[in-house]
Amino acid sequence: MENKFADVIIDISHEKVDRPFQYRIPDEMKSELKVGMCVRFPFGNGNKMRMGYVVEIKDTPDYPEEKIKELSQIVTENLPMEARSIKLAGWMKHRYGGTMIQAMKTVLPVKQEMKPVMQKEVSLVVTQDVACDCLAQAQAKKQVGKVRLLEALLSGATVNYSMLTSKLSVSPQTIKSMEAQGILRVESFREYRNPIRFAEGRTEKKELTPQQQRIVEAFLRDYDEGNRKPALLHGVTGSGKTEIYMQLIEGMLMRGKQTIVLIPEIALTYQTVLRFYQRFGDVVSVMNSKLSAGEKYDQFLRAKEGKVKVMIGPRSALFTPFKELGLIVIDEEHEPVYKSDAMPRYHAREVATELARMTGACVFMGSATPSLESNYKAQTGEYRKYVLSERIGDAKLPEVELVDMAGELKSGNMTMFSRLLQEEMRKTFSRGEQMMLFLNRRGVAGFVSCKACGHVLKCPHCDVSLSEHKNRMICHYCGYEAPKVTKCPECGSKYIYGFRAGTEKIEEKVKEMFPTARVLRMDADTTRKKGDYETILAAFAAGEADVLIGTQMIVKGHDFKNVTLVGVLAADLSLYASDYRAGERTFQLLAQAVGRAGRGAKEGKAVIQTYQPEHYSLQHCIAQDYDSFYEEEMTYRRLMDYPPSHHMLALLLSGADEAETERCARFLAESIRRERIPVRVIGPAPASIGKINDRYRQVLYIKHTKEEELIRTKDVVERTMEGNEEAFKGVQIWFDFDPVQSY
Ligand code: ADP
Ligand code: ZN
Ligand code: ZN
Repeated sequence: MENKFADVIIDISHEKVDRPFQYRIPDEMKSELKVGMCVRFPFGNGNKMRMGYVVEIKDTPDYPEEKIKELSQIVTENLPMEARSIKLAGWMKHRYGGTMIQAMKTVLPVKQEMKPVMQKEVSLVVTQDVACDCLAQAQAKKQVGKVRLLEALLSGATVNYSMLTSKLSVSPQTIKSMEAQGILRVESFREYRNPIRFAEGRTEKKELTPQQQRIVEAFLRDYDEGNRKPALLHGVTGSGKTEIYMQLIEGMLMRGKQTIVLIPEIALTYQTVLRFYQRFGDVVSVMNSKLSAGEKYDQFLRAKEGKVKVMIGPRSALFTPFKELGLIVIDEEHEPVYKSDAMPRYHAREVATELARMTGACVFMGSATPSLESNYKAQTGEYRKYVLSERIGDAKLPEVELVDMAGELKSGNMTMFSRLLQEEMRKTFSRGEQMMLFLNRRGVAGFVSCKACGHVLKCPHCDVSLSEHKNRMICHYCGYEAPKVTKCPECGSKYIYGFRAGTEKIEEKVKEMFPTARVLRMDADTTRKKGDYETILAAFAAGEADVLIGTQMIVKGHDFKNVTLVGVLAADLSLYASDYRAGERTFQLLAQAVGRAGRGAKEGKAVIQTYQPEHYSLQHCIAQDYDSFYEEEMTYRRLMDYPPSHHMLALLLSGADEAETERCARFLAESIRRERIPVRVIGPAPASIGKINDRYRQVLYIKHTKEEELIRTKDVVERTMEGNEEAFKGVQIWFDFDPVQSY
């Protein structure tokens, strides 16, 4: 055999070293080394030791052999990457930009091998009679430890080792000597750290409604015939989408296939996981950011070994190392959290589609308010579409009423509760039913301003206002903190404080209006500790409170049967966000909020308070008519060449020197124009937040109907930067395709 060579990607995220480097594989490593392994090697002129991953193994070198250095070592404590993950990472780098190592780290959610948790069990190897004789002897000799040990072993087949040594205070020496005498046996086994701790107990599957049944049958029939076109399920809130996911998962289990279920982290609650667990038992597992490293690692292993067949988690659960992936479910597919906000800025929907293509799996997305993108693809035939138009059973969609808050003010009502909402709250209390009050705070910072001169307190490092938190003021962009001011630095007035319309204020007000009401509040302050979120929801579900007040957090996917009223305070705050998706976001949020009411046998009602009652997002929401909202929103997107009618690439530059950053941005815009790619280049312009962390930000927007042209543009930008290293030394650059935020 020839000398073998390994191409490695070095674990440094810098454009300069963002390519494979070739090394010779030493003889003793040849049989062991595989693609995907982490290795150590000398790098650069100084031969400094570096780590990286093997992406290819070759028989012949690509360079003169004498120039090729040798690998030093395999790093066994880092997990190897699967060949499939490397391919997916390559695709992500190509599709979204950034370095290969960034992409590789993204697809490898668990990096380090963790020590296994071992458990030991003790059991008898002699007959009961022999053990009884031993016990009698020990009792005679008053050997208390031995007595307890034998009693325990005689009462059960196996006994946990640590239980013996801790609870029963049997000394390890006693166990050891009896093992040596051949009376008992100690066995070790690996215990998997399991993040799910539920009581056993299965729920039977529900008999599907004819509508549900048709969808499940059609999907599985298509699946068996090899149709892998992504599917979109548009089902109103409470129409039984989750039930469909579960039937599809069952179909996959019957075919020996595994399923990834993506859920926005915020909706990934005890309730949701419990529902899956009770249906499928411990082949279900979960991945989320709250798991310890050990728990994550063990889930990863169990998935790889095929012990887990259904993995539920946020977007990173896509990278579960299943060998027999059959289905990827994306619940609430319209949620912006499916877009990553770190390089590579991937969208889970797109990566899921690529992963499915690579593995022969299929993507199934569901939403009550599909993203414009997905609905557009369903219309152009790129996706299949299924519709569930009615709620399960007798449950009806709630009646929605809009209240013009400007009108309230005119008629002398100065509170944040309209007369209609107050009246509905009173009725709901008197019927003993529950209600949810939702404060839409998206796009509103709790900025601190002087009520006398209008001065706004800003972060000294960023171009944003500071937010008030208890006794401090915080910058959400860089973490800068300062004590709260009591006097305006501009005019000396003491009337300087934050914009207060928080959940706390609403709670106070509710208690004032209805002194006997039992109120729960869910916001950043009441959900600091792990488990707080679940505790509040469980208490509300158990009927321990009449009112649940909260922000976005409370509108996601919960199924409270006794909630008959939903109040939306300040529905329009999200409309002020300077973002082309503001209308879509508002419609989605309101539809979700409204959908919380009337999920049981009783009819529900929703009251939406707003200062813009004529806005089309709100009007379509009262009508609960997604399709007409979609048409109107699409007209606007087409007119403005916004996604999904066009694709858009945001190119973000940041640098410590303002003029330098601007010059670089101009230079890039020029080079794109020079290449004559038929894209439209807008800008550069300072980003809407012009400075973060003392770095100035410039943004360029590039539009075209075809994604490939934008990818070409990205490649041009990367080449330009490589060719002009010196000029771009001080700037950083990001690509964001079809951004879900504005810059
Ligand atoms: P969605 O995910 O669309 O909000 P769910 O799947 O949570 O809807 O269903 C809403 C409620 O209806 C749940 O309580 C669920 O258990 C129940 N449900 C769903 N499908 C059926 C069915 N075929 N028969 C009876 N109850 C059902
Ligand atoms: Zn002032
Ligand atoms: Zn700051």
